[in-house]
Amino acid sequence: MERIAQIQAPLPHIGSVNIWLLCGEPLTLIDTGPRSDEALTALEAGLRKEDLRVEDIELVIPTHHHLDHTGLIATIVARSGARVAALDRAAEYGAHYVERSDADRSFSRELMRHHGVPESVIDANEGFWDYIRDTSEAYRTDVVLADGDVIAAGGRDLRIVARPGHSTTDALLVDERRGTAFVGDHLLAGISSNAEIVPVAEPTGSRPQARTQYLASLERTASMPLGLLLTGHGDAVADHRGLVRRRFAEHRRRCQRILAVLEEGPAHAYGIAKHLWSARTVAEQPLLVVWEVLGHLDLLLDEGAVSEQILADGSRYGKAWFWLREQAARSGGDPNGGVQETSILYPGGHRRGELE
Ligand SMILES: [Zn+2]
Repeated sequence: MERIAQIQAPLPHIGSVNIWLLCGEPLTLIDTGPRSDEALTALEAGLRKEDLRVEDIELVIPTHHHLDHTGLIATIVARSGARVAALDRAAEYGAHYVERSDADRSFSRELMRHHGVPESVIDANEGFWDYIRDTSEAYRTDVVLADGDVIAAGGRDLRIVARPGHSTTDALLVDERRGTAFVGDHLLAGISSNAEIVPVAEPTGSRPQARTQYLASLERTASMPLGLLLTGHGDAVADHRGLVRRRFAEHRRRCQRILAVLEEGPAHAYGIAKHLWSARTVAEQPLLVVWEVLGHLDLLLDEGAVSEQILADGSRYGKAWFWLREQAARSGGDPNGGVQETSILYPGGHRRGELE
């Protein structure tokens, strides 16, 4: 059987990211680690154990566009001449990595403002975006894959399966014959994956519902006949159905906690986050906690338990307030009393074609 070797590259804050080496024809890496000397050293050491060098790599496939999965693609290609294959969405992101991450950055500033993050906290976290920009770079995709396509990699046939949610470019690479899948950050053994809210190609005026989309993707994965899921961080997953069930239960519990916070009155997403995490976490990771709270509020909005109202506050997009549906109905729908609702244009990012 064609061997799979796990190479772990160091990654600040998270610990490590998995690079999967598929020892077969063509010699393939799935994900690469970030663009850093430490990650490259770890990759070289991992390859050496297999009597291989970076120069031997023939194919690289990222599971999604995030820096820790794509950062070394350009370096590996420059040294080996390897081909790159990726889902169309990840190919498009990679072709314009810096421009796309800049667009995500300015969208995120507006998103945080709109959801109650103070200006000083937003400014203090610009380093997060510098890090994202600096630890990956643009890559060219030679084989652009569509959802459902099959590619030969490391002595196997891998089907690429789009699973948006954690990111817009997420894909599984599924060896259907062996019941093995490379899943990136779609499903992790140790932690619940985040679901990033980023500008959509064609702004619709409403918030991209990343968490809702993520749960739909998870459900589809749970129905697949898989025996082993090789993940982007940490351990492999053998019982994916059981894990997906646990993740759904965790989402339910978090929704209940948010409803309990809203019992005390209307709040911004960031205000809700302060009830759920430590002062340090909400100060240092404002975007991640806003994504998390908004994703769960979207579930509650869909159920009709919560309503959302945008109120003018002098800023470009106003502020979003969330409150319990029953309280909103009682008070006539205005959490602040007498403040005018704005017509919101949900902050958009790049438009399709704009960056091509
Ligand atoms: Zn990721």
